[in-house]
Formats: sequence, C-alpha cells, structure tokens
Amino acid sequence: MEQYRVKPGQQIKLGEWNPADKSGLPAGKKAGGKQLRALNGQLEALQERLYAEGKHKILIVLQAMDAGGKDGTVRHVFEGVNPQGVSVVSFKKPSALELAHDYLWRVHQHAPGKGQITIFNRSHYEDVLVVRVNNLAPEGVWSKRFEHIVAFEKMLADEGTTILKFFLHLSPDEQKARLQARLDEPQKHWKFNPADLEQRKLWPEYMKAYEDVLSKTSTEWAPWYIVPANRKWYRNLVIGRVIVETLQGLNSQYPQPDFDPAAVTIE
Ligand code: ATP
Ligand code: MG
Repeated sequence: MEQYRVKPGQQIKLGEWNPADKSGLPAGKKAGGKQLRALNGQLEALQERLYAEGKHKILIVLQAMDAGGKDGTVRHVFEGVNPQGVSVVSFKKPSALELAHDYLWRVHQHAPGKGQITIFNRSHYEDVLVVRVNNLAPEGVWSKRFEHIVAFEKMLADEGTTILKFFLHLSPDEQKARLQARLDEPQKHWKFNPADLEQRKLWPEYMKAYEDVLSKTSTEWAPWYIVPANRKWYRNLVIGRVIVETLQGLNSQYPQPDFDPAAVTIE
C-alpha cells in the first residue's frame, strides 16, 4: 500500500492520481469482499489486544469531497470491531462556542486515549479546506495553519498517538453519480444536501486546497494516503490493509497478570 502513501515533502498533483486505480491489489469486487471480511477479522483481534494492552492511541483521519465514502468506510472497514474501544467523531460546521476558540480546540478534546481508536470523519483539515475555498477566513489566517497542524500532530505522536490520514480520492463524475443516486432512491434522500451542489461547483478550488494539504502535511509521524475511491470495495481494502498492517507493527500484547492464575482457587 506504499504506493498510496505521500512521502514527506512530496509535491502532489491530483491529476496524476487515478481515482479508479485498482493496481495495488490482485482482486475483483467479489474476491475483494472476501478479503475485506478477512481483514475485518484481523482488525477485530488486533483492536482487542490494543484495548487490553491500554498503551497505544490510534487516530484515523478521513477526508473527502461530499459522497466520497467516509461513512461507508467507517461502516465496512470497522465492521465487527468491539464498539467499546472505537469512537467516531464527525466534525460539522463549528458552533458559536467552537468559533469563539482556536480551530484546534474542538479537535484536541476528541483525540484518542490509551487503548482507543478514534476515527475523525472530517477533521481539523476542514480549517484549511472548506474555510479556504469559501473564504471563511482570510489567507493570512488559514495559511499559517499548515504549520500548526504539523506541530499539533507531532505533539500527539510524541505523546504516543499513531496517526493515519486517508484522502478518499473521487472523480467528479463518480460524485455526480452518487449525488444523483441520493435523489433517485427515496431511502437516500436524507443524505442529499442541496448545499453540496454549491461546493461541487468549487471542485477545482477544492483540489488545489487538497493538493496543498497533501503536499504540506504528510509527515513520518502522520502520513497521508491518497486512496482511489471510485470503487468502494477497493477503497475499503486499501484502508483496511493500511490500518491492519499499522496495528500489526505495534505488536500489542495482552498484559501479563501480576498473580499466578494457576494458584487461584474460586470456591
Ligand atoms: P455526508 O458526506 O454524508 O454529507 P458530511 O461529512 O458532509 O456527510 P454534513 O453534515 O453534510 O456531513 O456536512 C458537514 C459540513 O460541515 C461540511 O460541509 C463541512 O465542510 C462543514 N465543516 C466541517 N468543519 C468545518 C469548519 N471548520 N468550518 C466550516 N465548515 C465546516
Ligand atoms: Mg454533506
């Protein structure tokens, strides 16, 4: 999955990244589904050990254009994982209280604790994406944030957090098809937001903003992955593999008891 990782300092041009790519894994949709179930099982076991060990903190950041598949990723990749050790935080338009503070204030309080996996559905990156593209803050304000974000994530990493960031890379045509499905299928109407069409018109501006995010904030301690997201099964496999391989690398162990279980008798 290395091919999708953005190396520190790498200049990203999204036009060179194919959202429909499936070259990294030798599977089709059907075999891919089977592989995902195997990954689900591995993730479940790894998460249980992580939780029992209570040492590492895992932060997963998901960013995408509307209909990019953030919700589907959470549903499919984390299927079967014990909800006790996993939380999902969705960052929406900031409240008045949140806007009264610095932009990292609302984010930091949701960072994972020991043994926890936290998934950010949108994140502090919105403050250099939607905010930039819609002129919600002047350039002199948002342009300084790349540096803050790199330092903030370094601090989290130094304090024991493993950070993985995924940009779900969708083509505009695929977004169109998914938004249309939200209009066509009554059980998807609730997902449709007419305001998404306004943001869709700003596609080139968003891609430019994402290119800056990916080029400036992918670090050794908090790498970005550009995930081809036109095919849902492929997106799930790529993200699932990166997470499973990362957790395997942490090599969490069940804690050793500080007593001799064989010497204990339960009357
Ligand atoms: P879906 O993909 O299912 O529509 P969503 O993540 O888009 O889910 P919504 O409730 O539709 O969820 O939208 C949340 C909105 O909040 C997004 O348009 C996002 O850009 C916006 N938002 C998030 N963070 C900020 C921020 N810091 N400043 C301004 N807007 C923000
Ligand atoms: Mg939305």
